[in-house]
Amino acid sequence: MKENLKNIKSRPQILLSLLGFVILSVAMLLMTYFYSQKTRAVLYNHIFDQLTSINTTKTHYLELFLKNKEADVTALSLNQNIIDMSKLLIFNESQSKKDKTTTFTNPYQGYLTHFLKLHNYTDILIMNAKDGDILYSLNYQQYIGKNLSSQAFKNSQITRLWQQVLQTQTLHVSDMHTPVLYTDEPVMLIGAPIYDHKKLIAILMLKMPSIALNELLHVKAGNLKTYETYAIGQDHLFRSDSYLEKRFSVKNSFASPNSSKVYTTSINQALQGNRGFDIVKDYRGISVLSVYAAFKFDSLHWAIISEVDESEITIVFDSILKVIYIWTLFISFFLILIGYFILNFVIKKCVIFPLETLYNRAKGFEDIINDSLNEIYIFDKKTLHFLFANRSAQENLGYSLETLQKMRFLEIETFFNNEEFHNIIRPLLEGTKQTQIYETMHVRKDGSKYDVFVHLQLMQIEGLMQFVALVNDMTEYKQVLQEKQHYYSLASHDHLTKIYNRQMFDTLFEKEFLRAERYANKISLILFDIDNFKMINDTFGHKKGDEVLIKVAACVTNFLRESDIFARWGGEEFVVLMLHTDINQAIQKADELREAISKLEFDFEEKITCSFGVAQIQDLDDITATFIQADKALYRAKERGKNRVEN
Ligand code: GH3
Ligand code: MG
Ligand code: MG
Repeated sequence: MKENLKNIKSRPQILLSLLGFVILSVAMLLMTYFYSQKTRAVLYNHIFDQLTSINTTKTHYLELFLKNKEADVTALSLNQNIIDMSKLLIFNESQSKKDKTTTFTNPYQGYLTHFLKLHNYTDILIMNAKDGDILYSLNYQQYIGKNLSSQAFKNSQITRLWQQVLQTQTLHVSDMHTPVLYTDEPVMLIGAPIYDHKKLIAILMLKMPSIALNELLHVKAGNLKTYETYAIGQDHLFRSDSYLEKRFSVKNSFASPNSSKVYTTSINQALQGNRGFDIVKDYRGISVLSVYAAFKFDSLHWAIISEVDESEITIVFDSILKVIYIWTLFISFFLILIGYFILNFVIKKCVIFPLETLYNRAKGFEDIINDSLNEIYIFDKKTLHFLFANRSAQENLGYSLETLQKMRFLEIETFFNNEEFHNIIRPLLEGTKQTQIYETMHVRKDGSKYDVFVHLQLMQIEGLMQFVALVNDMTEYKQVLQEKQHYYSLASHDHLTKIYNRQMFDTLFEKEFLRAERYANKISLILFDIDNFKMINDTFGHKKGDEVLIKVAACVTNFLRESDIFARWGGEEFVVLMLHTDINQAIQKADELREAISKLEFDFEEKITCSFGVAQIQDLDDITATFIQADKALYRAKERGKNRVEN
């Protein structure tokens, strides 16, 4: 029971708490995960929106930028100064072919230098439309006089653009080319025809370095550290420098074009003419949120990519998520802890406490029953087999409970056989009596018997009616009773003659006197004294005297009725109180006694006689008078010769 209580105390709370903790934690973590995924999707969409907006803007600006460059070239090609300069250059060239020593000083040099600086170009070239001779280069003068059909310029970016403009007679933009002919860096060339009175005389070209594109594309948007927009050409080479990795530059790309080509999902899609967004691995192999778009301008066919590292987007989000997860676990643990204490409190108050109270009460009753000095037995109503015996019963009988449970109640009974015992229990079974009380003797395991006092009744035990026997071992009680009786007898009897002593006579007299008074019965008193007893003592010894006293007392006892009270008055004097006896009957009785005593035989010759004084109680208020009267009568009997009755 105590063990069970302990289990109740600890097990359910812990199990429920653990279960609750697991369920709550899993539920909360799942919820956190679910909402975090939703939030992540929302966040990604937001970033994609931002990137799309940036990408569109950049593409738009790129287009505007290039159109602006075209406008520069157009304006320059229509400039009369440039036309005049071209004419002058053509003329000068023809002159110098004739006279190699001719020198030419360009009067527009200052203007052009200023123009280039202002518009971020690195060179201006003028080619003869007629033969492809390079007439002018502001910054690469070593090329002046060279022909574009020569081996050095064959298939070069300049030659191709020259041919294109010549054929179409319109403005063209040339994408970056490899190999780079006369510059360290990949450049873009914008070429336009120069007319003199509607006659194509020369081709003008402006050289624009890739850095100009960087300036446009690298303009930061927002405060995302890993954000960048870059351009990739159809040859899968960079058209603008990577903002994040210096080695992925336009210069490096074109320096080793075969090993510098970049292929990513976004680039491939954009170069196929598509626009869209995705989470992809970028040219560095890092996961990025990527927005891509195709960009077409003249012969340019590029991919414009706007990207940001996924880790930058998720780093804050993931750290917040981590905090949320930790808090989720902490809160669920805290809730469970509270739950545990509430559960503990409820179980303690509602289960443990009542159970403990019940247990203690039951234990208390069990202890009372077990520790009771009375033997308590429970036995089956039908088979009379023992079901229970308390400690006293087990100890007194010498049987263990297990042994007793195999025995029947009748096996310890000595007085009654089966039939007799059934006669005892029948009224209980029939309900005509509540209790049977009887005295008997029980037998112990060692065969010894002891007196018992049995209270037998039927009681409901665990829902069934069974016999309950409350047995008192009377052994000690009887011993005490015997001792008591012995001492009582010693105190109330004369030790020699074994008849009542004078104290007892007084007590009994008082009792009988009260009764006589109540019923107004006649009571008579006989006093008698052994005659010449001193002489017996003196002649035959004190011992013989004692024998006389014993024999006389026994003789008188035999003659008296149950109701008569006979006592030794003192020495060799006796008294008899006779109830329902008047004076005459008393005299008659006294005479009978006198005669009987006188006939007693002793081992000496002499006869023993007694003298009697008889009186009837006259005055209930003056008993002493009756005694005096009887005493006087006795004295008279002595006086008148002894062995007589007087009244
Ligand atoms: P009477 O006929 O006048 O009565 O003379 P008595 O000798 O009997 O009377 P007395 O009073 O002179 O003597 C009584 C004697 O009884 C004296 C006493 O020693 C003796 N006596 C008293 N009690 C006992 C007793 O318990 N045992 C014995 N053996 N003698 C007793
Ligand atoms: Mg005497
Ligand atoms: Mg005498």
